Amino acid sequence: MENPQPVSEHFHLELLADGVFAAIATEHGAAFSNAGIIDLGDRTIVYDTFMTHRAARDLIAVARAVTGRWPSLVINSHWHMDHVCGNALFNGATIIGTTATRDAIASTITERLQQRRATMPGEIATLEERLRSDVDERERRRIENLLRVGQWLVETAAGSEVRSPELIFRDRLDLRGLTRHVEVIESNGHTQSDTYLLLPEEHILFAGDLLSVQMHHWMGDGDPGSWRRSVESLERIGADIIVPGHGPVGTADDVRQMRTYISALTTLAASVVEHSGTADDAAQQPVPEPFGLWRGLDTFGRNMRFLHGRLAPTNVL
Ligand SMILES: [Zn+2]
Repeated sequence: MENPQPVSEHFHLELLADGVFAAIATEHGAAFSNAGIIDLGDRTIVYDTFMTHRAARDLIAVARAVTGRWPSLVINSHWHMDHVCGNALFNGATIIGTTATRDAIASTITERLQQRRATMPGEIATLEERLRSDVDERERRRIENLLRVGQWLVETAAGSEVRSPELIFRDRLDLRGLTRHVEVIESNGHTQSDTYLLLPEEHILFAGDLLSVQMHHWMGDGDPGSWRRSVESLERIGADIIVPGHGPVGTADDVRQMRTYISALTTLAASVVEHSGTADDAAQQPVPEPFGLWRGLDTFGRNMRFLHGRLAPTNVL
């Protein structure tokens, strides 16, 4: 199937089936996570709304262009900032999520954006000052990148409050449109509540952050055992096309790798604890193969510290 041309610097659009699109974040854009656009025939669903208003504006424009209408249903996969900050721009749409997701957006995200509002101008001034000093080319590029991200976040934090879900469901919600239906299913493990979308006739799954493809993925806001069980249930669905929260569109094999990742890191952390190793020891373990090739290697160390903290008796720090 031919892909539409890229339409935003923040993501590229992949056509998965007639009226079903994945918006895959570009590496240096302002999206910071993936999203989905699904045409029900009489309504348009958007699944997740990106980290910044700048990217969310493009998502709305693209959803309108490819479905011919303003999105009326927005589904939040979970509460993390990089998936929900664009909610506020979807005027007139109903935001759908679970109770835990709504509560976390209303409290934690609102608080974090307030903090950003207070601290970002100072951080940006410091970076600008540093840029004026004598720095090498590599450091200059790094600072310029941080400044660009900082400006995007300032814009987003200044724009408006985060909107949290207004239509709350538990366990499962079926959305039936003129031409297709979508199952909205609550799961957990990456966070306390993670919502994925299944298009049963098209065998397409939007997994949110229950899945990342070829990328280390933050485990510290969830429960590894629950996450592994949730991933196993995704495997049993047997979808052909799976859109992760981060990384490229994947297949059943990527879901299997995600399960292996969670198990491998949990086993490795347990072994460090068994040998009375510290959190530093855990973070410095060699990355099990094939995960050494995955992006976001810093997150591996953070995940190992988190798992060590969960498994270690209190006298081992
Ligand atoms: Zn997340």
